[in-house]
Amino acid sequence: MSRFTITLTLDEIAAARRAAQKRGDTGPKRAIAEKAISLACRRRWEGTFQKLERWDTWKKVGKVPSSLEARLVESTVAGIELVDGTPDDEVIVLVGGREAPVFVILGWAFAGDVQQDKYWRETDQKFVMPHADLRSPWQLKRERRSRGRRLNPNDPADDFAGHGPWPGMFDTDDGRHPKHYCHVRPSKWALPCRRCQRIVPAGALSGWSPRTGWIHGNPKECGFRLDDDD
Ligand SMILES: [Zn+2]
Repeated sequence: MSRFTITLTLDEIAAARRAAQKRGDTGPKRAIAEKAISLACRRRWEGTFQKLERWDTWKKVGKVPSSLEARLVESTVAGIELVDGTPDDEVIVLVGGREAPVFVILGWAFAGDVQQDKYWRETDQKFVMPHADLRSPWQLKRERRSRGRRLNPNDPADDFAGHGPWPGMFDTDDGRHPKHYCHVRPSKWALPCRRCQRIVPAGALSGWSPRTGWIHGNPKECGFRLDDDD
């Protein structure tokens, strides 16, 4: 099955740990897996997935889940194990975490599809859906803002080559002012901001993080405005 990976920064892992603590989880694993899904699939997550019911994925598969359970697993060929009685419309997503901080989005399924007679394992008293039967992780990825205009799917920008309003913006940039920059400092050079494309003059505050690239360090100076479209 085709899958994809995402590398979390130390700050992002720390944020997931804090979120887990805040909501009273017994460990950080689930929150870290959720954070990995959020970044890899471009879904908003603030300690919980925002507007889960509005993901474009559900329109394509024709069923809206009630909740999403992220599971961090060791094996990259893991299947989904479920005890009887899980709500049918719950979604379970497997995230491989053995190579952390590189995480692999492995696949997913509705609990209802796992709880079929053919997957019942009498010896363990639970359902086991083998890895090969999982749905593709690519279905969870949010569609790009300007899908057809890319020259190459690996281009960093959503609307590469100046076809759209934000030609330099990274796919993993959610458009919000990052809480954690790797660097914020007065710029030595005059370079365009990846978000608004205006030049950040030498001496003005510029910020860098792996999710955003170089952008205005002061959001008030940036011409980019987040449109709340997800
Ligand atoms: Zn800017």
